[in-house]
Amino acid sequence: MTPDDAPPASPAPLASQAAPVSSAPPGLPPLSSGPAPSAADEALLAAVVSRGEGVAQNSNHGVLLITAVLFIAAGGLQGGWESVLFTLIAVALHELGHVLAMRFFGYKNVRMLFIPFFGGLATGQPRELDAGKNALVALAGPLFGLLTAGAAAALAYALGSSPWLVKFAWVSVILNAFNLIPFIPLDGGQVANETLFSRYPALELTFRLIAICGLGALAWIEEMWMLSVVVVLMVIGTPTSFRRSRLVRDARRDPTWLTRPLDHAAVAQLRDLVTQQFKNVAPEKYARALPDHIHGLWLSIRKQFPGPGKTVLLLAAYAFTSLIVAPAIAFFLVRFLERPEF
Ligand SMILES: [Zn+2]
Repeated sequence: MTPDDAPPASPAPLASQAAPVSSAPPGLPPLSSGPAPSAADEALLAAVVSRGEGVAQNSNHGVLLITAVLFIAAGGLQGGWESVLFTLIAVALHELGHVLAMRFFGYKNVRMLFIPFFGGLATGQPRELDAGKNALVALAGPLFGLLTAGAAAALAYALGSSPWLVKFAWVSVILNAFNLIPFIPLDGGQVANETLFSRYPALELTFRLIAICGLGALAWIEEMWMLSVVVVLMVIGTPTSFRRSRLVRDARRDPTWLTRPLDHAAVAQLRDLVTQQFKNVAPEKYARALPDHIHGLWLSIRKQFPGPGKTVLLLAAYAFTSLIVAPAIAFFLVRFLERPEF
């Protein structure tokens, strides 16, 4: 095992450029330099490759329905049946924004679910990682949520009086404005992290620690216990996350990662990086998820980042949504519609 701050095994760029498919560059672990890959190596490579092909999983309509029922039951018992329905619709429209953006960018296995007492989650698997697309996917949730809230407010105004529409618009504005707060893992934090910080491990760590403090304070002051669970999980994951960022940064110094194929040699190197990432964890604890970790590193090392112009545009879109769209709808609600009782 190499020390924590040593660079990863050097991949011999010239050899991979000359014969990218089957050459075994010197300096690699025995897995790739041996005469023939074992059956276990073949199985691991096949598993990693299948992650990249985004093998279609079963649809998750059942999960969506069950989590929606649990969300309504939990929220209804806690805060009342009427407000939980508005919250469910607002969460669904917010997540739909993420889902539509992921579909637009061709992500595989796009799905969403509800998290009782907390909100929702939309996930998908991109074929290649692109920080600019990730930022747009993150922004699409609050933006779509705010636009539907604005439409509801406009419709309520046109109808003269519609307390239900106004209630929904209020819930939706609050929910989406909250998600625009620039702390990871909230959407606003993801926009900032993807565009600015995720390419520099030290900056990413600093941003993560600020987010932990900010969300921790918010969870404490507002007594949001689900948020404090998120904060605790973030704290626990910080060392591994930081180690991973540095391994990825070091590996990215070899540009051949962008062009080489996902073969036995690449998988062997990536497996070594996973071992370094989880150096304090027993291997059998992550053995089942090994193909996912290897594939995740493969994507992260090859991740594309927006140039200066695109970065400014993405941040401008985020600032416009947070500082213009959200306050404008809130102002319209306060100024032109009667505030409902909750
Ligand atoms: Zn979101």
